[in-house]
Amino acid sequence: MVTNTEVKELGHFINSEIVPGKSGQFSDVFNPCSGSVIARVPIATKQEVQLAIEAAKKAFPAWRALSVGKRADIVLKFRQLLTERIDELIELICTESGKTIEDAKGEISRGIESVDLAINAPHLLKGEYSVNVGGNINAYSAKVPLGVVAAISPFNFPVMVPLAITSMAVAVGNSVILKPSERVPCSALFLSELWKEAGLPDGVWTVINGDKDTVNELLTNPTIEAISFVGSTPVADYIYATGSKHGKRVTALGGGKNNMIVMPDADLEQAANAFLGAAYGAASQRCMAISTIIPVGEETANHLVKILADKIAKLKVGPSTDKEVDFGPVITQQSKDAIIGYIDRSLEEGATLVCDGRNPDIAQNSNGFYLGPTLLDNVKPGMEIYEQEVFGPARNVVRVATLEEAIQLINEHELGNGVTIFTNNGAVARKFTTEIEVGMVGVNVPIPIPVGYHNFGGWKRSKFGEGHMFGPDQVRFFTKAKTISEKWFEEDSTSSTTFAFPSN
Ligand code: NAD
Repeated sequence: MVTNTEVKELGHFINSEIVPGKSGQFSDVFNPCSGSVIARVPIATKQEVQLAIEAAKKAFPAWRALSVGKRADIVLKFRQLLTERIDELIELICTESGKTIEDAKGEISRGIESVDLAINAPHLLKGEYSVNVGGNINAYSAKVPLGVVAAISPFNFPVMVPLAITSMAVAVGNSVILKPSERVPCSALFLSELWKEAGLPDGVWTVINGDKDTVNELLTNPTIEAISFVGSTPVADYIYATGSKHGKRVTALGGGKNNMIVMPDADLEQAANAFLGAAYGAASQRCMAISTIIPVGEETANHLVKILADKIAKLKVGPSTDKEVDFGPVITQQSKDAIIGYIDRSLEEGATLVCDGRNPDIAQNSNGFYLGPTLLDNVKPGMEIYEQEVFGPARNVVRVATLEEAIQLINEHELGNGVTIFTNNGAVARKFTTEIEVGMVGVNVPIPIPVGYHNFGGWKRSKFGEGHMFGPDQVRFFTKAKTISEKWFEEDSTSSTTFAFPSN
């Protein structure tokens, strides 16, 4: 791990080299476990972003012209390097995000699913062909790359999200510019080294570091053809509106407020175990974390809350270096303060405290950004803690009388990323999966994250624009169709002019 005394100055990755930032402006990168600054990441100026875009533009024609099989070979080599150097990657994730080692491993493995899909680009890029559509003309459609595309990622998956939103873009022949979160830039720069070692030509993969001004240049620069964004809902909304206004193809994934319904017939022990991992894993800093558990019926609620209280009391919070801990700190002191504020205000609004994680033991002996698990009962729609995405370990119980009431509540919420139900009744599950207005739906699974070869994305204000973060839809998102109608004249064929609209 990086020690507290080393503060590394990071750069950008342009034309296969790490180049120092020129703005003189930096953002601190923290180790959330110790609270200390481990690196300073440069904030790119508009001119630096423009130079990076120019390098990517220059690289595009040769990369597009390379055979799709050769491109896939490089992606395959990149995948091999990811697995060979996984320990370094785990250490970086843990150091800059505070995740546990097991959680970091899980993140990498889910990220590799996207790389696996990208290796299949030769198959996925196959087009359509029709023979003799009329007058000895054959027609075919090809999927061609867009050009220079940008990806903007959040802090909570330093490796998985960058892999998910860039691997296919590279494989289908685009030049890609990644703007990682300024909180976790080290992992993205490490991925750059691996791409270089895998043989990716200069300029095809770029990492430009910075904040919103850096992003604004990507959103408005005419060379950028598409934007794939993952982050919070207000920023996703802005990215979608601004990128679209500037003529770009945009998919912007936002936040989540994910519910778990527990029916009276469910095994409450199983449901509680599933809830704990899905709710508090990664200190609840997952867009698919369960934030609200909705037991149906008072008896279910009373029983479930008791089971949860006993189990939550045994959860262990601590640094990534401790293999026994269930989850680590939140990302920054500001984030910790904000979460405590949400809890305080929810109590003023009438929620009741089942478990209080505002001041865990470890926080007294550490400058890390630790919070223990908090569970609030009797949370109701309209309360701030119910309506807002709270990105930290403060979770809610909302009590309802019927399944219909639960479905209605979920459908009325502005976010619709993930949802799950625990039940042993197939008809109930079917009604739920049919009527629920959410993008990713589970039945008796704690976090219904689709595997990498299915599409991932929420509904309502959890996703802006048409397109998914990973899965086959990425091929469509990062390519455009070219449809060619082709006819070859034989030597003795005759021709004539027609002014009527061509028909078959
Ligand atoms: P964020 O929205 O603050 O930042 C995401 C990215 O946008 C970063 O690279 C950041 O530098 C940039 N950014 C921030 N403010 C900006 C602005 N005003 N203009 C332009 N760019 C800006 O998100 P975060 O705090 O890094 O990540 C957590 C959020 O991401 C949560 O809301 C979480 O639910 C969401 N998330 C969603 C998914 C999903 O699949 N839907 C996956 C992971 C995370």
